Amino acid sequence: MPVRVRFAPSPTGPLHIGGVRTALYNFLFAKKHGGTFILRIEDTDRQRYVGGAEAYILQALAWMGISPAEGPEHGGDYGPYRQSERKKLYIKNIERLVAQGNVYLAFDTAAELSALRKAADSNGETFIYNWKNRSGLKNSLSMTHEEVQSALENDTPFVYRFIAHRDGENKDLFLEDIVRGRMRVDKSLLDDKVLVKQDGMPTYHLANVVDDHLMEISHVIRGEEWLPSLAMHLLLYQAFGWQAPEFAHVPLILKPKGKGKLSKRDGATFGFPVFPLEWKGENAGFRESGYLPEALLNYLALLGWNDGSDRELFSLDELTSAFSLTSITKSGGRFDPDRCKWFNQQYLAQLSVDELIPVLQKELAVHGVEQTSMELGKVVSLIQDRLVLLSDLWKEAAVFFVRPSDFDEKAVQKQWKAETPKILLALEGLITSLDDKSAEGIRTAVKKWADANEIRLGAVMAPLRLALVGEMKGPDVFMLCQLIGGDETSVRILFAVETISA
Ligand code: GLU
Repeated sequence: MPVRVRFAPSPTGPLHIGGVRTALYNFLFAKKHGGTFILRIEDTDRQRYVGGAEAYILQALAWMGISPAEGPEHGGDYGPYRQSERKKLYIKNIERLVAQGNVYLAFDTAAELSALRKAADSNGETFIYNWKNRSGLKNSLSMTHEEVQSALENDTPFVYRFIAHRDGENKDLFLEDIVRGRMRVDKSLLDDKVLVKQDGMPTYHLANVVDDHLMEISHVIRGEEWLPSLAMHLLLYQAFGWQAPEFAHVPLILKPKGKGKLSKRDGATFGFPVFPLEWKGENAGFRESGYLPEALLNYLALLGWNDGSDRELFSLDELTSAFSLTSITKSGGRFDPDRCKWFNQQYLAQLSVDELIPVLQKELAVHGVEQTSMELGKVVSLIQDRLVLLSDLWKEAAVFFVRPSDFDEKAVQKQWKAETPKILLALEGLITSLDDKSAEGIRTAVKKWADANEIRLGAVMAPLRLALVGEMKGPDVFMLCQLIGGDETSVRILFAVETISA
């Protein structure tokens, strides 16, 4: 059977990174087995539908480089790929279940059900619509044929419910999951799930199973939050007489600290993104925060899977060949923002200078630096190992293109002595007069000058850095002089002497 897997998000908002990881595992598995990765939009719940979410999902997958081969935008032989466009198929299939006696019509109103729930609650019990009480509720099993007909003629709203268990049937249902192994479920504890709602729309359970079957899905790889639905889904496959796909439920991504699933709020609290891309002007996504998609993929892949070794860095191709569903971990992975940054740093360090130059050029344009004769490749090589996020590129490079307009006060207090202006003016004269204005040329000349004048090198270097950079950070001072050139070095020194000494 060819491998066909699907990522089936509901367009209820931006894609959370837990969803991205599910998509990634599906993608890797398909790629590894020469299979097909499909995107199916599960948009039957019109109340939770959010405009723009589908487009966001597509953009996010494209940015991550895990685009589907079949989907609403990509086409394919198994479409349509939006559930809202597949209503006819669900109705056709529910009719089969009605004819076979697996489902019944339930006319109970929302108010009646809510009263039953409340009554059960007050006795410390949970109301479950199932084999124990269905004969006492308002449905086509408890009502006479005439009552049902008249309810239908009067357009009384109804839902279709699925018979999960009948009195006297074997209660044991065995579930197989590639990650969790074999599990036993007591079928008599399940409720008779609604398969079609009063508005005629299928629920998640019906649409999901019908589509997985019709789209010939071989493996369902999805979040662990769907594990409780597995029993119900298997019963549906049995009722339809279809062979069920294999299932792999992926553990949750947990909060950096404390209990529970990583949430949007954790991102805000701890100051890291939880969505791949920015969503409607809300917090920045990973892309806007300066993460490389390859780094994020690598980190996410390891949050719930490993190849059995301590290896951390994997390219997409390496992940593909190493990935297997059986090595997905059972326990949830804790999202660690620092580790995620570490991966990004590793990937930034691996980029070639030529790959970073265009990014720097873009930053220059954004920051109004129009023309420069600076050797951008040298700038990039000087700062590359200090980049953690792509956004650090401008932070680190700015010193080459923008003169300091003010000077770090603490540093001035510490480094600026009475004799400093004299020293700096002498240095300015020295550097301007040099024929060899390479970093090495300047370094040699400055050292020689300091020796000859019996001045400690520190008393020269610290104020020089302060004058050129504005603070005590930044790249090698002599490389900076070389790259900005003699004239700019001179302008900066003169400005610092004038400003600080004033
Ligand atoms: N629509 C479900 C979701 O939003 C899909 C669950 C599944 O993959 O079966 O996660």
